[in-house]
Amino acid sequence: MLFNYHTHTSRCNHASGADKEYVEAAIKRGIKTLGFSDHAPYLFPFTDYYSHFRMSLDEGYEYVESVRALQKEYEKDIRILCGFELEYYPLYHAREMQFLKKFSPDYLILGQHFVGNEPNGETVRKNQEKYVSQVLEGLKTGDFLYLAHPDISGFEGDEQAILQAYRRLCEGAKELDIPVEINLLGLRGGRWYPDERFWKIASEVGNEVILGVDAHAPEQFLHYGDEKKALELVERLGLKLIDKEIL
Ligand SMILES: [Zn+2]
Ligand SMILES: [Zn+2]
Repeated sequence: MLFNYHTHTSRCNHASGADKEYVEAAIKRGIKTLGFSDHAPYLFPFTDYYSHFRMSLDEGYEYVESVRALQKEYEKDIRILCGFELEYYPLYHAREMQFLKKFSPDYLILGQHFVGNEPNGETVRKNQEKYVSQVLEGLKTGDFLYLAHPDISGFEGDEQAILQAYRRLCEGAKELDIPVEINLLGLRGGRWYPDERFWKIASEVGNEVILGVDAHAPEQFLHYGDEKKALELVERLGLKLIDKEIL
């Protein structure tokens, strides 16, 4: 694996390890471009709601400072980028983008876990249609480098409805020329995604496919088996895997 744009840090409250340990593990893995993309701080106006699976507003500054310092420290060994994983919430997106400007991120990836808007969002798991509409609307903003775990919504529901939603998502992403991610965390954790049904459709539609480690602990860079499984999927279905840096 030569590049990975999907890396978290302990600031999101569900990851562990020091930032530096992620860098060292990535170097060990042979990664040449390492993108940090921790769950972005989110500005929810007019509320004291606090979202527990992302860094706080204050931690945003410290995160960027830390990643930029590592970028310098390790410049001879690895290329480091500083990005965020972000949800697309129609109600807050413009404001959030304005807010994130102060961190000058190198890129954003879209990782949608709720439909609607936090704090009143619903899980994506049973809302395939809403999920796809919201994600496509998000991708259309042009703010995202790629779509993380595109198949997260297929957890349960009517088979035909799931397949239809998957197809609409694949066709939309293809039209917008935005890659979709095979999420290695899903493979590592034995989750319901990557969903083979999704990837069959992605193969037919001809989507560009990227691998994302979605590391939530440094040692996850050394789980070589996840990548092997993903590559088997790519091979089996004839997926169009991106083989060089997209940023
Ligand atoms: Zn996470
Ligand atoms: Zn993630």
